[in-house]
Amino acid sequence: MTADNAVYPSDRVRTILIPSACKTTTCILTLAFPQNRGSYAGIYASGFRDFLLDPRLLQALQDAAFEHPSEVQQECLPQAVYGQDVLCQAKSGTGKTAVFVLATLQQLIPDMGTKGVNTIVLCHTRELAFQICKEFLRFSKYLPEIKTKVFFGGIPVQQHKDILKTDCPHIVVGTPGRIEQLINEKDLDVSKLKRFILDECDSLLDNVEMREVVQKIFQATPREKQVMMFSATFPGDTKDIARRFMYSPLEVFVDECKLTLHGLLQYYVKLEENQKTAKLNSLLDNLEFNQVVIFVKSVQRCTLLNKVLNECNFPSIYMHSRLDQETRIERYTAFKDYRSRILVSTDIFGRGVDFERVNIVFNYDMPPNADTYLHRVGRSGRFGTKGLAITFVASDEDEAILQQVQDRFAVTIQPLPDKIEPSAYMSS
Ligand code: ADP
Repeated sequence: MTADNAVYPSDRVRTILIPSACKTTTCILTLAFPQNRGSYAGIYASGFRDFLLDPRLLQALQDAAFEHPSEVQQECLPQAVYGQDVLCQAKSGTGKTAVFVLATLQQLIPDMGTKGVNTIVLCHTRELAFQICKEFLRFSKYLPEIKTKVFFGGIPVQQHKDILKTDCPHIVVGTPGRIEQLINEKDLDVSKLKRFILDECDSLLDNVEMREVVQKIFQATPREKQVMMFSATFPGDTKDIARRFMYSPLEVFVDECKLTLHGLLQYYVKLEENQKTAKLNSLLDNLEFNQVVIFVKSVQRCTLLNKVLNECNFPSIYMHSRLDQETRIERYTAFKDYRSRILVSTDIFGRGVDFERVNIVFNYDMPPNADTYLHRVGRSGRFGTKGLAITFVASDEDEAILQQVQDRFAVTIQPLPDKIEPSAYMSS
């Protein structure tokens, strides 16, 4: 099956009211500079009230201390809550999740008395699915009739089948494999679906096998529905592939060279492979941090580095895809709740996951490409906070990737200086 199978037929008709917040349906965001430290309030600085959200959503936003919409929220929410398709690129950590969560909940309110799955959100990892489900729960706290559930592999499928039978949710968040299985086995009925959402959509669409699963799920749903897709990166022809799932979407893209985060200091350290651990130890000793993520390139290196750090009295935890599911969620939650401060991880946590207090990211091993670099370092400096990214360069290949990063994102990454003032990378 090719992506073309997903093209909407030309007779698809939609009657939606679109406010004219943008002059055209394509908005290029070039002004995503934080106005205040720890904020991405856009320059038009409207309030969430301006989107005519339900008072119960506004109350939940206030409880979450969301004072002003970020720029991506300002650009997308007016159209998204009216049901328009949305194809959105915005920097890491600028609040894309709230766009689709609020747009879904607002539109679901009139339907909350009805039964059946209304919205599906797909993403590439189980922990991200778990995180997105929590965001739905956070913002629907004053809407107890709205039910959200998360379904992913690594958990007996019967549990999910039972939930669908006895307590069917309105919103399902999940990873493609498990969702496809539930649809195929006729446990998940998507015949009345109204919204189909992909978060980190390039990671779902770029890989042909994953894309085929996404397409199968898509094709099991009604033609008439809202489709929204989000990511910080759209490599190659991802935008075109994404457009085939959509009908006249609002398109929001960022100039590629403006994708780096402004509050983030980025440095590299040139060294030999066998010097990496000693250097990391000394940096962890000397830098100030709230939380740190250290990225490595393999499961084996992840376990080993964690062991060495623990032996050196750094109480780190580690994360990779071969851990059992219970341990994965336990560790995700421990780090999210600040019960652990140093995390060694493979690229499984390289994108999507939101740990608010991470202010240092180490690339102990160089990422495989510039996009992965951007996503990894975006784990710090979230929502306009300050952060520091330090990349170890141990080979000619590493140097070439560092150069790609600099060329692609128009950023200069300097050698790590002997001293950095903590105020430069710690938000007050
Ligand atoms: P993205 O999906 O763009 O990478 P997230 O949706 O994970 O970013 O948001 C990053 C962080 O910013 C989260 O901790 C989220 O709770 C917070 N956030 C998002 N929007 C706002 C807002 N308007 N005001 C305050 N915090 C926000």
